[in-house]
Amino acid sequence: MSRSGAEPFADRALERAPERTLEQALARVAEFNGRLGAFASIEAQRARAIAAAQAEVEASAQPLRGLSFAVKANLCWRGVETNAASAVLAGYRAPYSATAVERALASGATPLGVTNMDEFGFGSSGENSALGPTRNPWDLSRSPGGSSSGAAAAVAAGLVDFALGSDTGGSVRQPAALCGVSGFKPSYGRIPRWGLIAFASSLDCVGILAREVERIERVLAALSGEDPRDGTSLAEPPLTPLAPRSLRGLRIGVPREHFEAGVDPRVAQCVRAALAHCEREGALVRELELPHTRYASPCYYVVASAEASSNLARYDGVRYGARVEGDGTLQGMIEATRSRGLGPEARRRVALGSFVLSSGYYEAWYVHALKVRRAIARDFERAFESVDVLVGPTSPTLAFELGARTEDPLAMYAADVLTTPASLAGLPALSTPCGLVREGSADLPVGMQWIGPAGADALVLACGAAWQRASEHHRALPPLHASASAS
Ligand code: GLN
Repeated sequence: MSRSGAEPFADRALERAPERTLEQALARVAEFNGRLGAFASIEAQRARAIAAAQAEVEASAQPLRGLSFAVKANLCWRGVETNAASAVLAGYRAPYSATAVERALASGATPLGVTNMDEFGFGSSGENSALGPTRNPWDLSRSPGGSSSGAAAAVAAGLVDFALGSDTGGSVRQPAALCGVSGFKPSYGRIPRWGLIAFASSLDCVGILAREVERIERVLAALSGEDPRDGTSLAEPPLTPLAPRSLRGLRIGVPREHFEAGVDPRVAQCVRAALAHCEREGALVRELELPHTRYASPCYYVVASAEASSNLARYDGVRYGARVEGDGTLQGMIEATRSRGLGPEARRRVALGSFVLSSGYYEAWYVHALKVRRAIARDFERAFESVDVLVGPTSPTLAFELGARTEDPLAMYAADVLTTPASLAGLPALSTPCGLVREGSADLPVGMQWIGPAGADALVLACGAAWQRASEHHRALPPLHASASAS
């Protein structure tokens, strides 16, 4: 494996002025999107107006100037249809922009459009979208993962420099892994949630996808920091990246449970090879246990569905989006709007969430899950007494064929067994590419997940950046990549 650690990082895209590259970028999005379905809408006119306004501002005041980005369909963008890929929000134009979008714009980044996703974030394949599926640029017959399906596919195909996603139980990290890019879920509250359409409020995080971890560090510096409009945002200033470090002396813990049941041996082998590489770079790698890991997925689906059922109560045909009149009574209108407007997975979450919160079952399910959530967080606290970071696979499998899991919700839920633990504990977690596995005629990416202690976002990113300086996996490009047809 070659080393490129000595070279200082140069984010070439930042050297470009926004208006110069915009037309080219928009043309590529239009050309590739038909095959990928990554964008729900391309906002060409708006992008031009934004870039022109940005060009009037002093470049030094815009730390992300020259970068193009995409906005997940559940992040409000003023004046743009923000429907979270749900029919119930069809036609809903956001009256304001999410803090993350606002800050990206103020930093000089130019948004090209809105990306496809699983409805409200419910899913791991992008197929639970009222807008149709997104395809994986590594193999168009496969899913890019989800729920930030369009975000990951757009970054992997080279259509944008970074993408904003949301991660409630893995929705940034898992698609990043399956598409061979980097995806970061910050500590809970690091990037304000103001303007993020709620799925499960105690878990929802705005996340960032890009090829290079160093770019994620720059974007996070621009998007993080307290927002008085979000009472759960961390009362801390924007995060500044740590000075570049190497992997030497880094104490890496490897949770045994993250290599157990359900993990494809090819994925496990790839991540183990990456860990051996880290050791050769001077990291101190040792196995440890996170005993409650196996309860993470059931615990997550109880807590997340409970919160989702409550958050989705607002879609009643009165306040937002679409309305179906039904039998003409108020009750009939609400029933018809919700049963037609919400897709099957959203209805399943509402049913499950209402059940676990119902008076007879609340203690047995919801309260019990909260206790398990605490036990999972304690496992992590104990692990971080003796290691700096934890590393394992991000996704138990390679990218799967579109349609392979749509009839089996439990198989779909199994896609995030390795990402939900950090979500439940509110910890920062990053997925970075660590190799390719050949399956049939396709090379499919594998991602490794770096999890850090609460608040240690900068450390997790510094480790990921060190890994990328010591390895080449993030440079591998999928067959469907815009550079193939770009100038
Ligand atoms: N796949 C998980 C779910 O369906 C996580 C989704 C997410 O993080 N938004 O709930």
